[in-house]
Amino acid sequence: MEFNDRFKDGLVELIRRASTELPEDIVVALKKAREQEEKDSRGANALFTVLQNVEMADELSTPICQDTGTLIFYIDYPVGVSTIALREMLNDAIAEATAKSYLRPNAVDPLTGKNSGNNLGRHVPVIHFEEWEKPEVRIRLMLKGGGCENVGAQYSLPYSKLNADRNIAGVKKVILDAVYQAQGRGCAPGILGICIGGDRATGYVISKEQFFRPLDDINPIPELAELEAEILEKANKLDIGPMGFGGRTTLIGVKADYAYRVPASYFVTISYMCWADRRKSMTYHDGEITFD
Ligand code: SF4
Repeated sequence: MEFNDRFKDGLVELIRRASTELPEDIVVALKKAREQEEKDSRGANALFTVLQNVEMADELSTPICQDTGTLIFYIDYPVGVSTIALREMLNDAIAEATAKSYLRPNAVDPLTGKNSGNNLGRHVPVIHFEEWEKPEVRIRLMLKGGGCENVGAQYSLPYSKLNADRNIAGVKKVILDAVYQAQGRGCAPGILGICIGGDRATGYVISKEQFFRPLDDINPIPELAELEAEILEKANKLDIGPMGFGGRTTLIGVKADYAYRVPASYFVTISYMCWADRRKSMTYHDGEITFD
């Protein structure tokens, strides 16, 4: 498969769309939340401002939030594709998107404090490659804000502080604790991505991948579908509300998956995504590019 300039331009466009256009299901959920909050409350007003900002970003093609986040790619590619070539194309596209101000220069060397200026650096962008049997390349991108990343949490069960054992009841306890600890930090209302089991590292990879699921999908695994609905309902009774101002909407979505664990460990990983849930997908097949 050849990756030409058209493909690179497609990647720049993918980044522009991710940074400036909030997915429709998120906008719908935020509008619904605004209606649910008490009229003229601080929560309702916060959502009013958020939605005004979303509209302006879309119209003016400017970033939805000043923090354009960590670029996290999940890429599925057919047999025979060079991931080295893909990575080079992505790096070029990211540098160009930064120069065009679709992204804030956001990559900082933790040892020197120096910003690379183009969103490239050691171990960034984050790319998860997966070979698949389909003929097309699918590139899914999320922009993960720092504020919401800071309130992600990982629990090792049993967790005696909450009497949380190694079972679904224990899992639910620590998930709700993570929401409670986050309060308005991380720019609520947010979405939870959860992984039950796995090791520490894959827990975060899997929990973040949940953010690509549309808000209204139903988990095909009944236990997880039930957990998602219950956590959403209970979290929204915590009165944390939009930006922590109190109110009925603390979360707009909960998505969970699981991974086999070793007998000695039982991790529950909770990634938190802010209201600026920026995700976009691009498919490349026979020279044609489509966006979702
Ligand atoms: S948490 Fe999200 S909405 Fe808040 S500042 Fe960061 S990117 Fe923006």
